[in-house]
Amino acid sequence: MSVRFEMLARDGAARRGRLTTAHGEIDTPVFMPVGTSGTVKAMTPEGVAATGTQIVLGNTYHLMLRPGAERIAALGGLHRFMNWPYAILTDSGGFQVMSLAARRTIAEAGVTFRSHLDGSLYELTPERSIAIQHLLGADITMALDECTPYPSPHQAVESSMELSMRWAERSRRAFVDRPGRGIFGIVQGGVHPDLRLRSAARLIDIGFDGYAVGGLAIGEGQGTTFAVLDATVPALPEDRPRYLMGVGKPADLVGAVLCGIDMFDCVLPTRSGRTAQAFTRRGVVNLRNARHADDPAPLDPECPCPACTGYSRAYLHHLSRAGEILGSMLLTAHNLRYYADLMAAMRSAIEAVSFTEFAAAFEGAA
Ligand SMILES: [Zn+2]
Repeated sequence: MSVRFEMLARDGAARRGRLTTAHGEIDTPVFMPVGTSGTVKAMTPEGVAATGTQIVLGNTYHLMLRPGAERIAALGGLHRFMNWPYAILTDSGGFQVMSLAARRTIAEAGVTFRSHLDGSLYELTPERSIAIQHLLGADITMALDECTPYPSPHQAVESSMELSMRWAERSRRAFVDRPGRGIFGIVQGGVHPDLRLRSAARLIDIGFDGYAVGGLAIGEGQGTTFAVLDATVPALPEDRPRYLMGVGKPADLVGAVLCGIDMFDCVLPTRSGRTAQAFTRRGVVNLRNARHADDPAPLDPECPCPACTGYSRAYLHHLSRAGEILGSMLLTAHNLRYYADLMAAMRSAIEAVSFTEFAAAFEGAA
């Protein structure tokens, strides 16, 4: 038995579900904080769990370069290494090889590249990506894909998507089935509905435990992202989780849930926490702004996070101006709590069959 996905409620295309993995249950729709190098930056694992987070994402690219997948496996796997007892999804490394590595060469076999850390040479094939994710002990493994840049001509997107589908097949074959662990395929095809549908059909043919939509939110604009989702999501199996990769802003999450997406990841809440940007029910607050210097009020009086219950805007402003590490810690904790609460509110609205109203009110308030 790999991962199990139960559908608990529906409201239009929006779904409220539960995913069961070897490291616990995940209520969907869910947001997964990004734990790039075996840590959600500026957070302890206890702090991450306290935000309501049930699953984090680990980056294959970073971990294969440093400290190395074999070393993590010898030390008991990624869960033990980073002291995170709950679920972990690992990406395939493909996206970051394309965006960070130097001198990369893409061939049928896979991609060769030089590390951005020390210039040493690596090869990432579908088989090696799956082996690394196995060594890390991922609950959810992602197939290796090629991330097509935007914009690209239809023909370039098509041949890139076809390569990703051949890699998906090899990834699926290389994956070792274990209880509570699953592998997701990734739909590619840029902004072209015909290619997206062909990609989805190929992946369903191969058969995956879940289906991701990749290659979006890379500059095409929110309207186009939603149009691609509207064209793609109905072609995905009803009984499997759907994951929109690398998205996004709060309004993007609400809109994508409306399209039937169940899972998300993005560096936005953690990265913003380190640059003094806080997400609140009244929009984004920049705590570096001088208007907070004398403000004794909390960041968000309704938020139960440590930053909002213990400190003033004036103090958070001071920490960020002084470059104090505590500022990054508190605002990251707040932002992850905001995202977790937003997902919980969406789940409740779907259960109450009032998600359309929720989404309209959210858009009105943003
Ligand atoms: Zn807060």
